[in-house]
Amino acid sequence: MSMKERLIGLYKLNKVDRELHELMSLRGDIPLRIEDLESEKREHDNRAAELRKELEDIISAEEGVQTENDTLLEKIEKNDERLRSGALKSNKEYDALAKEIEDAKEKIHLNEKASKEDNSARKGEIENELSLIAGQLDEVNAELETNNHELEELTRQTGEEEKELVAERNEILKNIDPEDFAHYERISKVKYGEAVAIVRKGSCLGCYSSIPPQKAIEIRMAEKFYACESCGRILIAEELITA
Ligand SMILES: [Zn+2]
Repeated sequence: MSMKERLIGLYKLNKVDRELHELMSLRGDIPLRIEDLESEKREHDNRAAELRKELEDIISAEEGVQTENDTLLEKIEKNDERLRSGALKSNKEYDALAKEIEDAKEKIHLNEKASKEDNSARKGEIENELSLIAGQLDEVNAELETNNHELEELTRQTGEEEKELVAERNEILKNIDPEDFAHYERISKVKYGEAVAIVRKGSCLGCYSSIPPQKAIEIRMAEKFYACESCGRILIAEELITA
């Protein structure tokens, strides 16, 4: 195989590798977005569960207060009956019973006030936040669905393209010397998949530094590998690939 053919082989390999890289980066963005949306969804779900728990606690506390009030009312009624029955022996007994009734009424009043002022305000806040979260969840779910669909579609489309590119790459590799490939891989790794640079009008298109005219002529003759002195890429004269 001539030096020119070896260079052209590496140039073609670089081209396919670039396309493969682009394909991967295209797909790479969506899984990340899906991950973000799923974590957002989890946060909303957790917050909603917290709020529902708080609401349940309030309701069960209210039920407790209601039971207490019912008991107090029964007690008031019973004491009332005793007061009216005239069965009480002394004023002291009468006063004590009257005070018990007053205290029970006051307690019922305080319970109702707390329930109205504190609980109903908090319950309203919780309901508001829950309906806000429900709206946000709807949005997140819709966006998730779109992204999942997009990923499926993309994987289906790029899957075929990827297969074709890999097949093309394997075909190119058949004609590349293992040592040349190792050389290519070393440079590719540090140059983000761009190991080969075209020389056009005396410049390296990998880094845009100029190449002395005499060296440019040698590169065109392609009797050996030339590396760009400033970026280190394998140089190939444009004439070689357009010819
Ligand atoms: Zn260069």
